Amino acid sequence: MSFKEEFARYSWDNVKESIYSKTAADVEKALTTPKRTLEDFKALVSPAAAAYLEPMAKLSRQLTRKRFGNTIQMYVPLYLSNECTNICTYCGFSLDNKVRRRTLTDREILQEVEVIKSMGYEHVLLVTGEANQTVHVPYFKKVLELIRPHFAQVSMEVQPLDRDEYEELIPLGLHSVLVYQETYHQEDYRKHHPKGKKAHFNYRLETPDRLGQAGIHKMGLGVLIGLEDWRTDSFFTALHLDYLEKTYWQTRYSLSFPRLRPFSGGLEPKVAMSDRELVQLICAYRIFNGEVELSLSTRESEKFRNHCIQLGVTSISAGSKTNPGGYAVEPESLEQFEISDERKPAEIARMIRGAGYEVVWKDWDASLIANERMSE
Ligand code: SF4
Repeated sequence: MSFKEEFARYSWDNVKESIYSKTAADVEKALTTPKRTLEDFKALVSPAAAAYLEPMAKLSRQLTRKRFGNTIQMYVPLYLSNECTNICTYCGFSLDNKVRRRTLTDREILQEVEVIKSMGYEHVLLVTGEANQTVHVPYFKKVLELIRPHFAQVSMEVQPLDRDEYEELIPLGLHSVLVYQETYHQEDYRKHHPKGKKAHFNYRLETPDRLGQAGIHKMGLGVLIGLEDWRTDSFFTALHLDYLEKTYWQTRYSLSFPRLRPFSGGLEPKVAMSDRELVQLICAYRIFNGEVELSLSTRESEKFRNHCIQLGVTSISAGSKTNPGGYAVEPESLEQFEISDERKPAEIARMIRGAGYEVVWKDWDASLIANERMSE
């Protein structure tokens, strides 16, 4: 059994209709019940919950403080390559975007690492496009060996891999993997991924299963907001999370909620999501699940991020570059998307401390994880 079977039990249209028919009474029940279900999550993301934003924010904040204390983790992406053999309608790295590509060499990676380390980071997220001829498992192995001594944690956001490939990378220090479904709407998924390996909806859908089977420590899920109805897509994300937590209970989970951003050759969002709606979604995820980490990137504006760290978010990036070589080697190379919050990590850290939170530059210590596992 994989999530594919669970997913097949649901119809997009029925779920959407059910979300849009939730009432104020459903939202009130979702806010007060001691144990929340996926039906409660539907109520929390429904239009009916828009009138309950204040109590939702208050509860979300309380639950976050209870589980995560006063801490916000910092991470930064390190783009290794913008080569890609896929066409994705929403991405600057798409194959049909005829711009010069590059993959960083060992020496260039270390130049980038030096700058990232000077910003104070101990946790890095490696990002690549999907170019299986050049950016493949042997390349990832080489990069992990090269940079692992410099960071306490290394995460990856690259093409989905097979289980045995993840099993090869985990002992080399791969701590977590982010794999976003982009949208759970199968027809729209096909429209947005017309060419390349990413066109295989089910292979992507089953990637978290392969990660769980490989024993990854943490995985990140999410959709790209703007491709389809965000309420319905978020329900499927919550369903996926729920399934994974029950199936691979030793793994930790994080969620992201990226909104489509401008990029070279850009796509206009089909569905716009307001700031208030994104706050509603963040609170809904937290109220539904007190354990999941919630991550907010530099796609969002300064003002919005300042506000959100107090509502349920547990990790944010800062000072990010979305192009390979962006920190030191070639600042002008092709970027994946434009960032919005351009503040330096030190400024973000000051803002976080000013809001009464402690800044954590790395994910939990390996020694804490070992203790956690021993006590299970
Ligand atoms: S989203 Fe990923 S797979 Fe698609 S074009 Fe961009 S880098 Fe390539």
